[in-house]
Amino acid sequence: MTEKSYYKNPYLSQWTAAIQAIIPKNDKYLLVLDTTYFYPEGGGQPSDRGTIDGIEVLDVFEKDDMIFHVVPKVPDNKKVDCKIDFNRRFEHMQQHTGEHILAATFYRLYKGVSNAFHMGEDYVSIDISLSEVTPDMVKEVEDAVNEVIYRNLPVKTYMKDLEGAKLLPLRKQPKVDEDIRIVEIEDVDFCPCCGTHVASTGEVGILKILKMEKSKGMTRIYFQCGRKALQDYSKKHEIITSLYEKFSANDNTLLEKIEKYMEDVKKTEGLVKNLRQELSLCEAQKLVKDAKKLVVYGSYKNKTLNDIMFIAKQVFQMGEYIFIGLSLEEKKLFLSHNTDLLLHCGNLLKDVMKNFNARGGGSALQAQASFGSEEELKKCAEKLNQVCQALDD
Ligand SMILES: [Zn+2]
Repeated sequence: MTEKSYYKNPYLSQWTAAIQAIIPKNDKYLLVLDTTYFYPEGGGQPSDRGTIDGIEVLDVFEKDDMIFHVVPKVPDNKKVDCKIDFNRRFEHMQQHTGEHILAATFYRLYKGVSNAFHMGEDYVSIDISLSEVTPDMVKEVEDAVNEVIYRNLPVKTYMKDLEGAKLLPLRKQPKVDEDIRIVEIEDVDFCPCCGTHVASTGEVGILKILKMEKSKGMTRIYFQCGRKALQDYSKKHEIITSLYEKFSANDNTLLEKIEKYMEDVKKTEGLVKNLRQELSLCEAQKLVKDAKKLVVYGSYKNKTLNDIMFIAKQVFQMGEYIFIGLSLEEKKLFLSHNTDLLLHCGNLLKDVMKNFNARGGGSALQAQASFGSEEELKKCAEKLNQVCQALDD
């Protein structure tokens, strides 16, 4: 059994230990030490990282009261120097203690019970047994949590047996019935927990709720504490500062300016749509004027297939035609008609394009194809034009 020294002093990050066992596992090794400050994954808190005799610790886990340290190679010595990545560990201690205060506050103010706790690289969250949490509730809870942080209350940990634990006003029932580890935040919370925590609430620094979402009848609350919260603030501040510059704005005017900008974009989009329609109408009139009898033919460098389909629509409002349109930009062809002729656009296009590097098809009234090159598109369109002109005779 390994001595779990991280419970005695969660702030100690360097020590010497004796290796008790080395177990090969796949292409790695599991080291068992006589004493360890490496926290194994548990209670929503990720495992620690660091080194053993300079060798990187890849993972730490607990099984049957033993702590296993996963390493890529075996140290040369039996007595080894161990070192924890304390920045990472301290962030976990800040987040974990913050979670206790947050859960206790939701319980105190709204009787919401915390369930799943997740602490990862990307986000930290708890699920609270409330189907709805309003922004006002979030504000109230956040303020109350940060008051607890400012009061710098002691965070104590001690062991109790089941009888002893029953006498405490526990927020959650323990999952074990002996050696129950209690984490007490003076005046605020009693909770059974196996994680590592800071010694007083002030060390949490700050707790900020970032967002909420509904999850299986509960509400998932995303938050950040301490150094991670500062990093998050810095990142967002950088984004906001860049927006201030782009919009020549400040705290008071940014939202208003963005709203105005979005309104302008909407207006411009409407204007562009109208202009495109007017332009398509002119194009359609020109094509019909140039058409020899039934076949209307248009080839465009800077028009999309959608533009061309819109022109076809305008052409058909002027009479009965076979329409062939080319988008050189997209290397696409559009064939359509609104005549009484027994003409199946899909079949005709398939027949003509079979000798070209092209894909496409369609229905009796309209069809389209994409080509490997502009040259092939033009050649195929020419052939199609001939076939359609012949239909006209
Ligand atoms: Zn805890």
